[in-house]
Amino acid sequence: MPTESTFLLFGLFMVAAAAGWAFARYLDRAVRGSEEDEPPLSQGYLRGLNLLLDQKTDKALDMFVRMIATDDEALDTHFALGSLFRRRGEVDRAIRIHQNILARPDLSASQRHAALFALGEDYLRAGLLDRAESLFRQVADVADDAEPALRNLLGILETLGEWTQAIEVRQQLARVTGESQALEIAHCHCEAAERALAAGDGKLARALLKKAQRTRRDMPRGAMIRARLAEQDGDTDMAWRLLRNVVRDDVALLPEVLPELHRIALRRNDAAGLDGLLRPLLERRGRGEHTLAYAAIICDLLEPAVLEEAVIEFITGNDTLASLVDAEELRNAASDDRRETLVRMAGGLRRLAMSVVRYRCESCGHAGHRMSWQCPSCKAWDTTRPTSELPLAGLLAPRRDT
Ligand SMILES: [Zn+2]
Repeated sequence: MPTESTFLLFGLFMVAAAAGWAFARYLDRAVRGSEEDEPPLSQGYLRGLNLLLDQKTDKALDMFVRMIATDDEALDTHFALGSLFRRRGEVDRAIRIHQNILARPDLSASQRHAALFALGEDYLRAGLLDRAESLFRQVADVADDAEPALRNLLGILETLGEWTQAIEVRQQLARVTGESQALEIAHCHCEAAERALAAGDGKLARALLKKAQRTRRDMPRGAMIRARLAEQDGDTDMAWRLLRNVVRDDVALLPEVLPELHRIALRRNDAAGLDGLLRPLLERRGRGEHTLAYAAIICDLLEPAVLEEAVIEFITGNDTLASLVDAEELRNAASDDRRETLVRMAGGLRRLAMSVVRYRCESCGHAGHRMSWQCPSCKAWDTTRPTSELPLAGLLAPRRDT
């Protein structure tokens, strides 16, 4: 049901529309110097406005719809009215307005495209995705500016998981805008590959991953899926190489691949290899060292030794944490209590890290609890990464009684 604020908004809208229309008419008359041909439309708008203010929205809508058929100069106003209905969530009314605009036989091509697009947005808002998809396809095929329709179409296809069609639309978008869509297309191939894997079709998954690789080389996600397949096939050398490159290309992904790296190192009986891969991060200091400590804490891994060293450096390098432990003892490899203290501290830090959102989109800032290759908020691909943040302020928060 329309709310009181809806009516107020319509009222203001129509006052603005009527005032703009009246002013234009006034100017027109002033230029022509004539008072003749008082148009009947002003009466129509005023009656419509009165009906809206009397909260008779459907009667007002009937009036505006009748006016659409005859009112040549106020088509923009009708588009705006339709858009207003949609934004207020009154999609049926928006659809009616836009369908009646489309029914006019004298629309120019661009007016027709605008009406089709607006109706597509109405259907999208109403959740009628198949109808919206059909309209956006029509507009994308013929409109001078196809980009908005293609982007809406992509949104629908990605929501439906129609990855093959999404790739075709991305290719069309690349032609229209001149912007590369390689990263996005490679992710669509990966999405389809993950689906094939879930369905047990490893052959199809491999073919799709090859396509992803051809579209975009050095793609961490593709390498991570291929590593999973290689490990399943027993090709631990290949799995190791792929994951090693992921870490070298994008250290922020370390918490995502450390358990696999650790498992493969054990299978290959090559703890030294893992130590050798990670040690440069510890020696690099700054972000690399922090990410290493965070990954060790989150993944609950203190072996090989480089992980233990990173966690010790992290604890002793933080004033608050260092005050809770005996730093000398923690660094003393000969101490019997050292390991127990370290495990207890790492466990506490892990619970702390798990108590907050662990992933953030670098494009829009959206925070979530799961790694998403496509941001659920801004829909950008490959912009979400682990935060690697340990919310130490939480140490001071009062305990919650649950
Ligand atoms: Zn985002």
